[in-house]
Amino acid sequence: MIELMNTLRLIPLIFLHLSLTLLAKAENPPNVVIIYTDDQGYADIGVQGAEGYTTPNIDKMASEGTRFTDFYVASAVCSASRAALMTGCYPPRVGIKGALGPSRTGLNLEEETIAEVLKKKNYATAMFGKWHLGDHPSLLPTKQGFDQYLGLPYSNDMWPENKFNPNWPPLPLIEGDKIIVPYVTGEIQATLTTRYAEGAVDFITAHKDKPFFLYVAPSMPHVPLYVSEKFKGKTEQGTYGDVIAEIDWAVGEILAALKENGLDDNTLVVFASDNGPWTVFGNHAGSTGPLREAKGTSWEGGIRVPCVMRWPGTIPAGRVSAEPICTIDLLPTIAKLVGAPLPERKIDGKDIGPILRGEKGAKNPHEYLAFYYGNNNLEALRSGKWKLVFPHRYRVVTSVGNDGNRGKYGSKNSGLELYDLETDPSETTNLADKEPETVEKLQAMADEIRSELGDGLTKTKGSETRPAARVK
Ligand code: MG
Repeated sequence: MIELMNTLRLIPLIFLHLSLTLLAKAENPPNVVIIYTDDQGYADIGVQGAEGYTTPNIDKMASEGTRFTDFYVASAVCSASRAALMTGCYPPRVGIKGALGPSRTGLNLEEETIAEVLKKKNYATAMFGKWHLGDHPSLLPTKQGFDQYLGLPYSNDMWPENKFNPNWPPLPLIEGDKIIVPYVTGEIQATLTTRYAEGAVDFITAHKDKPFFLYVAPSMPHVPLYVSEKFKGKTEQGTYGDVIAEIDWAVGEILAALKENGLDDNTLVVFASDNGPWTVFGNHAGSTGPLREAKGTSWEGGIRVPCVMRWPGTIPAGRVSAEPICTIDLLPTIAKLVGAPLPERKIDGKDIGPILRGEKGAKNPHEYLAFYYGNNNLEALRSGKWKLVFPHRYRVVTSVGNDGNRGKYGSKNSGLELYDLETDPSETTNLADKEPETVEKLQAMADEIRSELGDGLTKTKGSETRPAARVK
């Protein structure tokens, strides 16, 4: 009897504890960190076969989190890829294609970025690195939901020192919406990876008591490669390996800052690359491992990138997931996590929270993923294990350059080709003739997305495309 009384007396205490825990959860929405490197290949992390250098911090992140082997970018080129990441939309929906040069074009201010979605929940937001969604002062990250910004507005090869095209204007380094270095030199480029990492660490420390979104987009390993003194000559591979080693160090610094500030268990960290490696640059480019072709193509080597996500206690540790997911899914997934409303305009991504958490039987909620490249060309579509490639011309590397020199491209034409990515991730065996019903099914899916977003290859006009920003 006395025991029962004691137990009964404990009940209010248990409830108090539970409600305090829930309250703490509600008051502590998760922080979000996205690290999005430039042109890092599928095999350019230790756990996916890096050769001649190691990535101990990214590998550790994989052992403490989940590695996604079938993680896709929406397009195999910088600006289009980043537009999809930031907005949860296929690039043609938001009118961004290719790689923007210095111009008056950029992501429309009407589109909502992840930063803007999180702002609705009072998140502090910062970006360090390559933006590439509009370099005009009115189109910079600070106009798209980021409180803080430091970085290059576009690619690090768009500068007067480009050996193959010296007609670029001076490359600026921007902080907030001000140019702090009007003419970035090679010496400055060599400081960028560390500078972004230090900015990220300071931001984490300064915002440890408030939910934050941190987007780190290293300008490397996009050519021309530059590395700080502390990593120069440190790897067997050479400059490319040194550059990746510095990026890996930066990842380690960011994770250490989260740990030191007690934020480990309340922070989702995503590591991925914006597209496949620029293999025409030989030893100054990375590797796709078993995947076919590279950057600038919709073959797997162009669109499938290394991806690790870590969130101790929420994302299972040491797991490998082969569920196909895409950058467009991050915005809606993050919105759901923090209870923020989705953008008012239609988006393409879907909540993949159950896949991240490793819930039993969690499946990709998409019937298919579509891959656009070039002039809004729908080049490929993946549905389950199947990938349908539409007839198109694609570039192939016919000779590689080395040590910063560019090799040569040729081109090839694909037919209507079907691949089973589960058994044939290298896309070697076209099964279109053997699987006419599958082809037909995927064709119908392609027609659906074409009617919405158009397709340059079949000269289809989409009914739901929205314009990019064009500053007058
Ligand atoms: Mg890139």
